[in-house]
Amino acid sequence: MSAHEDASLSEYLALRDKVDAFCAAATKASGDGLRCAPGCDGCCVPGLTLSPVEARVVEFALEALPEGRRGALRERLEDAEGCVLLDAEGRCSVYQARPLVCRTQGLALVYPHGVIPAQAIVHRDAQGRDVSHCPLNFEHQKPGPGATLDADRVDRLLALVNLRFAQDRGVDPGQRVAITTLLAAD
Ligand code: SF4
Repeated sequence: MSAHEDASLSEYLALRDKVDAFCAAATKASGDGLRCAPGCDGCCVPGLTLSPVEARVVEFALEALPEGRRGALRERLEDAEGCVLLDAEGRCSVYQARPLVCRTQGLALVYPHGVIPAQAIVHRDAQGRDVSHCPLNFEHQKPGPGATLDADRVDRLLALVNLRFAQDRGVDPGQRVAITTLLAAD
């Protein structure tokens, strides 16, 4: 079975499509303010944990990888300096299925004031909301309104979709699943 064949994941996959569309529009509006490019893995830090719904999607993606690729990732599990799903070339092994937090990284993300840690805030927008983005991006100009993504809204929608998924499956919606656990168990 794939993630698309599991009916309990349909709400999540629809949300993911919407987030991808928002990200595409924000990327276009960001112009040369974004320096994100294939092979840049600065956002792929160790210790990523996932909600049950996103863990299931990544689990499907890991199951679909050729055994040789899974084995190579597992061999580097102990020594990996970044996310354990980065391959030897610094690319995400589950790129098409990567979690929402990975899909939105690098873009200018907007949160209500007080939600994110002070060190993550790059500036405030005209409505007093906190804006965060990769320090390599928007070096010469602040992101315009079309270049920002309402990350708090994405988080709230994900929480709702995860709650329904977890209730359907009878699991704790607040559970966090480490990516290392998914890879080790695969
Ligand atoms: S899941 Fe993929 S995109 Fe996300 S942190 Fe890991 S390697 Fe990077």
